[in-house]
Amino acid sequence: MSSEPTETFWLSKSLEQMDPSEWESLCDGCGRCCLVKLQDEDTEAIAYTDIGCKLLDDDGCRCRDYPNRQAQVPDCVRLTPATVRALDWLPPSCAYRLVEEGRDLYWWHHLVSGDRDTVHHAGVSVRGKVAALEDDLPLEDFIEHLVRWPLRLPRGAAAKTRPARAAAPLKAPARSGRPD
Ligand code: SF4
Ligand code: SF4
Repeated sequence: MSSEPTETFWLSKSLEQMDPSEWESLCDGCGRCCLVKLQDEDTEAIAYTDIGCKLLDDDGCRCRDYPNRQAQVPDCVRLTPATVRALDWLPPSCAYRLVEEGRDLYWWHHLVSGDRDTVHHAGVSVRGKVAALEDDLPLEDFIEHLVRWPLRLPRGAAAKTRPARAAAPLKAPARSGRPD
């Protein structure tokens, strides 16, 4: 699906200044924030797993019931400017975090590329990387699914502009077994 790039409001407005439409459009659709996180009881450190929230469409990388998400998943965090500042586990690639840090969006963000599929083509979304949804695994198995990739960008995705080799759509990463 393609859409025309819009004006660069994310460079001129703070998160607080964005209207609801701009706020919603800022989400890149990566789905990384919808992966289950585990917290160390001693250090309180938070680590990502490759397990998706029970409402995650792991192919579309979207929430399957976004309007009612908090009724179904009470610990789903509603992003606001305040929560974006407070959450230290948002992926470094998250558009809300980038804007809060005064940084530009990457080439693969749909507001830059004009194409909602570039987040998948660049290998940034969780498509093909979700091992299971949370309801499909016993809790004691979650520890075996700790991963670091949600806190990193794939090669080429961190470039300021789209790499020449990525002019044609890149192949989505292979499904590793099995998150918004
Ligand atoms: S990590 Fe940020 S940009 Fe990606 S889906 Fe979550 S809220 Fe949207
Ligand atoms: S937005 Fe939906 S899929 Fe993502 S964590 Fe919340 S309830 Fe789960």
